[in-house]
Amino acid sequence: METITKAVHDAVSAITGQDSNAQLVKKGDWVLLTGASGFVAAHCLTALLDAGYKVKCSVRSQEKADEIRKRRASHADKLDFVIVKDIVEPGAHDEAVKGVTAVVHTASPFTLDDKEDNRKYLLDPAIKGTVGVLESIVAHNPSIKRVVVTSSFAAMIDLSKGLRPGYTYSEADWNPITYDEAVKVKNGAAAYCASKKLAEKAAWDFVEERKPNFTVATICPPMVYGPLEHSARLDALNTSTADVYRLINGSCKTVPETSFYAWVDVRDVGVAHAAALNAPSDRYFITAGNFTYTQMCEIIARHFPQLVNSGMTPNPAGAPPPPEHYRVDNSRSRRVLGMSYRTLESCMIDLVNSLLKLKATEEGTHYEAAPVSVTDVRTGDEHRSHALPGTGLTGMGSAPKEWKETENLCDCKEGECKAGESSRKKCQGHMEGHSAPIVLNK
Ligand code: NDP
Repeated sequence: METITKAVHDAVSAITGQDSNAQLVKKGDWVLLTGASGFVAAHCLTALLDAGYKVKCSVRSQEKADEIRKRRASHADKLDFVIVKDIVEPGAHDEAVKGVTAVVHTASPFTLDDKEDNRKYLLDPAIKGTVGVLESIVAHNPSIKRVVVTSSFAAMIDLSKGLRPGYTYSEADWNPITYDEAVKVKNGAAAYCASKKLAEKAAWDFVEERKPNFTVATICPPMVYGPLEHSARLDALNTSTADVYRLINGSCKTVPETSFYAWVDVRDVGVAHAAALNAPSDRYFITAGNFTYTQMCEIIARHFPQLVNSGMTPNPAGAPPPPEHYRVDNSRSRRVLGMSYRTLESCMIDLVNSLLKLKATEEGTHYEAAPVSVTDVRTGDEHRSHALPGTGLTGMGSAPKEWKETENLCDCKEGECKAGESSRKKCQGHMEGHSAPIVLNK
């Protein structure tokens, strides 16, 4: 994280010409994280804690607060909780915003199913939920400096233009749908995309019109995939994880047609939110690039061949080539936030392992994840350990033959671990749930 933080500071200095240490949000400050029980938010929480912030989590129930507290026992003194049952309620975040320096607003419904009432199920929670947080800040904590809003590629894509061969999406693009069209549209994906566009636009308009003390940065990821760090059940997976689970649970007999042709690893989305706390107020397209479901199935076939052989994963061999489609430009996020992106291969290995582990837990059996060698995507250095959620590392496939499972340490020297302090601790077995360590057999 230090490397990322420095890269962010250097980038900010280069662009603004100001002292990079003049941070809006400092280590040790409290940050409010809304929707903290969610898939993306869990990785925002990891990144915020890794970056040295304390985090006040807003969740819908005491049970959800207790689950997070249990999972993050080693960070107990850096966590606080507030119950917000429904972000649509006026003043829902009045208490939540007190005592914090910044807000990361992730809470919003993500579903692509058709809805009988787009306004009630999507538009109100997205738009009123976002504006409501901003209103609460103005009324109850005007000393807040920065609000990071989780928006989406959904706020950028123009669905009416189809796959747009030859076109490259960037932060300059806005989904053109209007509120009136969004209320009436009969397609669930279009209604969700509208909810994200209108919520993000409402945040920018709020700042423009009300001129509050805080500035806004928005994070726009496309489909977000990766290991689960939140409390999840297979029968109630978040939408993007369910998108992959159907590729390994036997429900797809052939490779389905790709819905959105861009993706990003959820761990990188978490890092981007933390970096945006001190970055210039702007829109950031957080994407690793294009992908197709065929590529996902090819990775599954390579690393989990049993899933293809048993018919749980559709055989990618012979799947039709994808149609020509749009490209994506992540250059601003690399340049300004210092982002570097994990590969689809490492993401899929960690996500599939995560899902198979969850399945085994629900069935009361044991699942041993295949060991992988890992490379720090920022330094390119190999770090010999397991790929672990939240480590900042990329899995590179099956372990080489000379590796053996022995003890609980990576082979980096103390203080020189390229993966960063928290990962080194994880390699030392300090992380809850750490299992099956692997080191190089020298
Ligand atoms: P999740 O469903 O896992 O998380 C959504 C979170 O929002 C949950 O904590 C949920 O609480 C909370 N929430 C939803 N509606 C309300 C409400 N009315 N009142 C209070 N809390 C509410 O989805 P993701 O983690 O995938 O999504 C998180 C954010 O990331 C969203 O803003 C989404 O649009 C955005 N995003 C996600 C992408 C993806 O591929 N996953 C892609 C691009 C953007 P609870 O669980 O208790 O209902």
